[in-house]
Amino acid sequence: MTMSNSSSQQTALRISLAYFLIATVWILFSDKAVFELSRDTEWQMTINTLKGWLFVLFTAVLLFYTMRSVLRRLDKVHEAELELEKQSNFAMEVAGDGLWDWNLEKSEFKYFGAWTHTLGADNPRYVDTDSWLRYVHPEDICQLRNAIDLHIRGQSSSFKNEHRLKLPNGEYKWYLARGLATKRDEQGVARRFSGVITDISAQKNVENEMRVAASAFESNEAKMITDDKKKIIRVNQAFTEITGYSEAEVLGKGPSVLKSGRHSDEFYVLMSEKIIESGWWQGEIWNKRKNGEVYPEWLKINVVKDNDGNVTNYVASFNDISDIKEAEKQIEHLAYFDALTHLPNKSQLIKNLEHILLSPSGNGLKSALILIDIKNFKALNNTLGYRSGDYVLIEISKRLSDILIEGATLARYGADIFSIVLEGISHSQEQAASMAHTFAENIVNTLKEPIAISNLKYEPDIRLGISLFESAKHSAQDVLKFSELATLEAKTSKEKSIHFFDQSMQENLEKRFYIESKLKAAIPNDLFLACQLQVDAYGDPVGAEVLIRWNDPENGLISPADFIPVAEESGLINMIGYWVLQTSCQHLKKWSTHPKLKDIPLSINVSVGQFMQETFFSQLADMISSTNVSPSMIKLELTESVFVEDFETIITKMNAIKSLGVKLSLDDFGTGFSSLSYLKRLPIDELKIDQSFVKDLEQDQGDEAIVKSIIALGKSMGVKVIAEGVETDSQKQMLTDLGCDNFQGYLYDKPKKIEEFEKSFDIY
Ligand code: C2E
Ligand code: MG
Ligand code: MG
Repeated sequence: MTMSNSSSQQTALRISLAYFLIATVWILFSDKAVFELSRDTEWQMTINTLKGWLFVLFTAVLLFYTMRSVLRRLDKVHEAELELEKQSNFAMEVAGDGLWDWNLEKSEFKYFGAWTHTLGADNPRYVDTDSWLRYVHPEDICQLRNAIDLHIRGQSSSFKNEHRLKLPNGEYKWYLARGLATKRDEQGVARRFSGVITDISAQKNVENEMRVAASAFESNEAKMITDDKKKIIRVNQAFTEITGYSEAEVLGKGPSVLKSGRHSDEFYVLMSEKIIESGWWQGEIWNKRKNGEVYPEWLKINVVKDNDGNVTNYVASFNDISDIKEAEKQIEHLAYFDALTHLPNKSQLIKNLEHILLSPSGNGLKSALILIDIKNFKALNNTLGYRSGDYVLIEISKRLSDILIEGATLARYGADIFSIVLEGISHSQEQAASMAHTFAENIVNTLKEPIAISNLKYEPDIRLGISLFESAKHSAQDVLKFSELATLEAKTSKEKSIHFFDQSMQENLEKRFYIESKLKAAIPNDLFLACQLQVDAYGDPVGAEVLIRWNDPENGLISPADFIPVAEESGLINMIGYWVLQTSCQHLKKWSTHPKLKDIPLSINVSVGQFMQETFFSQLADMISSTNVSPSMIKLELTESVFVEDFETIITKMNAIKSLGVKLSLDDFGTGFSSLSYLKRLPIDELKIDQSFVKDLEQDQGDEAIVKSIIALGKSMGVKVIAEGVETDSQKQMLTDLGCDNFQGYLYDKPKKIEEFEKSFDIY
């Protein structure tokens, strides 16, 4: 409500003119009237003085009213201005804005409005031009100065800048300053510069949050946002990379564009129900890429709701888990497949058997499990090396794969055992057995072809154990046990390489369980030693073999052939072996002073497990020193099966034992896979021809040839050869003719209780 400059001037002019006119008229007419009224000069002087005072009075009154009127007006203007400032301050306060006014001429910077509080003052503040810059964040000063300079020099139409200002508590807040030069000099340089400053920290925070949200949205994880109607409204780059769809291609569409068709409708219904119920869902799902490829993903869906609880959006995030799935598959493959032959392994075989056994469709149908054992494979491994062993296994697996018939599945059951399941072959037991046997013969024929390894030809000795089974009647473990037992039979048989599991085997199995449960309690009270004489060609005693006996109170005598394998499996052989060694040494000690027995050494059987025990050597050495027997009177009988262990370890052990003065014999010789090359390195004193070759010596030319070569080998090694199981004179004669040194068998002596054996030498 200020008066404009021109109207103020006119008013002043009018007042001055009026005064001038009045004064002129007064001067012109009042002097003349005084002169006319009286010629008296004294009166005239008095009147003129009075008139002069009147004029002064009038002028003073006029001045008074004029001044009062002007000052009143000025007061009103000032009040109005103050009111305006108050109102605009209030408005600024409410809006959170501040005003600033920069008088460059006076180098004066004034700020007021909300900003004053921000900067720590209650009232408008004046600061010098440079000092307000200290409120500005150091990083923002440069660009703020530039923006100011531009505008001051008239190079920008308005000034606008975002910068941070320091609060009294030391924190910085973001502000937007806008302004305009209100006065410029002739060169166009601003002399005065005013504007508004607005707190934009909230907006900056939002921007920041949005930036964070945007970068979170653009993560490696695919993201898809839909509206409440499940129409896609946004996807990120990872979505495009995984699915192949660009954002434009899916906007407005439903997530069903990704459906693979691999899940039932029910799956999606359950998913929706879970989302409605708990506000989220996660799980593995198969989806389809744009190129049609179906892939697995791990999907999480979250519901977004407004303040009233209404669904506004669905946010889906997912990762392509094809790689993880592939790795899982490989791990599963490793768990269920053999790495060398790539055949299913034992676990997979068991799964397969369980599947067949539980299958209702197989009711009454007989299936067969054939275990294919490569006899003495371990010895081959040890002599020719693991690479050759692996090669043989791969070759055998290939040959077996080639002859598989429909319904047959091949697996690698163990290190040197393969398995073939013939599923649902017949309802008839006989027919099933006959079919399994025919197939087994085919296996033997296929595998007996020599396998060339370097310049050698390896002829695998294949042994097959077969069991027939049908669903609901057996467990997978039963079936495996049956076939294993049949394989064991096949391995020990000389004539038949294919064995079926039958009732007698079942009985053996039960016997085995019985033995296992009773054996521990039987040591040592129910055990005793038998002794069997060994003679030379003249029938003179050269030694004796100790053979263990178990007298079970319930079942009478149990053969060592039955309980020694069980003892080996259960580890009880160590206790038993120790007892045999100890008792034998005690007898040897007793014999050492007897005229006839003092020259009879004792052959003591030692099992592989016992021999391989780390403490075996020290036990033996301690026993010799504690019983004070002559070590040369002890002969340890080892079987060729010891060579399944590492050959160098065996040699080292044997040499250590030999160094004690103890003798070594190789029992059951000829039944194992002994290579000439390493036999020669063995520090043994005796080869013991297995009784199976002696038994048919007269009838079987093959056996004769084997015995002949064993004797020749013994001679070449410079060791004695003894034949066991000699029952007849003609056997003894033949063996003598072939050059055998010593003999053991019923022909001379049956194993008898060691006390009876002693009695026969008149010890008592
Ligand atoms: P082996 O060491 O080969 O013992 C020879 C077996 O042949 C003995 O059977 C013996 O009684 C039997 N035998 C001896 N002469 C004849 C004969 O003229 N004809 C026939 N048919 N058989 C004959 P045994 O005592 O039943 O022992 C069987 C196997 O048990 C032994 O075979 C041996 O491997 C093992 N064994 C026996 N005692 C022990 C022992 O103390 N420790 C260990 N680790 N194994 C033992
Ligand atoms: Mg023996
Ligand atoms: Mg023997």
